[in-house]
Amino acid sequence: MKRETIDKLCCPFDRSDLELTRITEDLDGKIDEGWLHCDQCKRIYPIVKGIPIMNPDEYREFSLEQPLLDRWQKHLQGRRVKDFRLLDAGEEGDT
Ligand SMILES: [Zn+2]
Repeated sequence: MKRETIDKLCCPFDRSDLELTRITEDLDGKIDEGWLHCDQCKRIYPIVKGIPIMNPDEYREFSLEQPLLDRWQKHLQGRRVKDFRLLDAGEEGDT
């Protein structure tokens, strides 16, 4: 998916702007892997093979996303993901 396309996406829950973290790109500079993060609700939307996963929570399968997050550990820089929310190191979350 192209950078410009991703820039136009907003959070499906609160319409906030999303912050993009790139992990890998293809030769054309399109994003292959990475994630989008909403500063408002803290949700993280992984991008896999260029496709952002932006389903409602109930249609997401954490067990499917966990291996990605494990692989992205060094990019997460100590942050954890809980209930699809990206938490700062030491932050517990509301739930
Ligand atoms: Zn949001």
